[in-house]
Amino acid sequence: MRFIVTGGAGFIGSSLVRFLINETTHTVLNIDKLTYAGNLDSLNSVKDNDRYSFSQIDICDRTELEKAFEKFDPDIVMHLAAESHVDRSIDGPSDFIHTNIIGTFNLLEISRNHHKNKDSFRFHHISTDEVYGDLTSTDAPFTEENSYQPSSPYSASKASSDHLVRAWGRTYKLPIIITNCSNNYGPFQFPEKLIPLVIQKALRGDKLPVYGTGQNIRDWLYVEDHAVALYKVVTEGKMGETYNIGGHNEKTNLEVVETICNILDKLIPKKPNAIKSYKELISFVTDRPGHDHRYAINASKIKKDLNWLPDETFETGIYKTVQWYLDNPAWSERILNGNYRQERLGMGK
Ligand code: NAD
Repeated sequence: MRFIVTGGAGFIGSSLVRFLINETTHTVLNIDKLTYAGNLDSLNSVKDNDRYSFSQIDICDRTELEKAFEKFDPDIVMHLAAESHVDRSIDGPSDFIHTNIIGTFNLLEISRNHHKNKDSFRFHHISTDEVYGDLTSTDAPFTEENSYQPSSPYSASKASSDHLVRAWGRTYKLPIIITNCSNNYGPFQFPEKLIPLVIQKALRGDKLPVYGTGQNIRDWLYVEDHAVALYKVVTEGKMGETYNIGGHNEKTNLEVVETICNILDKLIPKKPNAIKSYKELISFVTDRPGHDHRYAINASKIKKDLNWLPDETFETGIYKTVQWYLDNPAWSERILNGNYRQERLGMGK
């Protein structure tokens, strides 16, 4: 089949593209604007494969998107392109409204036309558990039936896009499917997000910033497990349905940071700045405005209907992740020195 993956140069999108090229025989067109978060370095291992191609397109540009659909003639669209960082959405929500809402609207309209000539066409919208709002420590985890109560400009824009996708399914009979996933972690994650940020800062001996008292709880899913789940949903899931995807790993932010410090203590006994443990670098900083206390996912539907469970526990996944950042310093280095953006043109096909 012919897959369009939007946002394929991002963290989850690149994992999905690597999975589709390496583990299936499908053909993939990666559509990505290459914002600061898009990094073609993450696709070096597949960029020369004949089944992979890349087009630098902004999903807000309807004309260019239409041309790409016409030329590639997709059977499936997996839509991951988004502005995805909560802190950035608080500082400047505008890009989030454009990309996450208008961009999704454009894709839906083009898909609606495309579906008229292709019955089997499917549109998979990749979303977040943050649309459900937050939980107290004792609330039951989110199911697919929870109402939407987004708290940040990011989650509100994702919630809006989910609503549009459902409406296009209901009103225009577009075959859609939605997944809402918990926090992902793993290789190739942009170093502004908690786990890679902490690893990079610890290696430099910098302070490790933890919001508030570090008691906010997230459910963590290893990104490669997410890619497998997405493929299962789009190929075996029932159109019109929503599936929650979770890692069965609720952790406080402080637990996450301490776990990384413990692994680094073992793997790199020679520490910077004469510290005895990386934990000495932990520093509590002013909390994020509107910071959700807890997200937790009830992922029993995807287990029951599609027989999907993650392979990695948090302990195995976080160890692999820390080891990957230690083994691949050049990947982070090229982001931190800006080279990944300067050389991007000409790296795709
Ligand atoms: P990311 O920020 O790493 O990547 C986003 C990608 O989208 C980048 O390659 C960027 O260049 C591209 N992009 C941004 N605006 C675009 C535009 N206007 N046109 C075309 N491309 C554009 O994000 P991620 O962490 O890989 O998340 C991917 C998707 O999964 C998002 O929709 C996000 O909401 C969702 N999600 C993420 C997580 C998580 O923990 N990271 C959890 C659940 C759901």
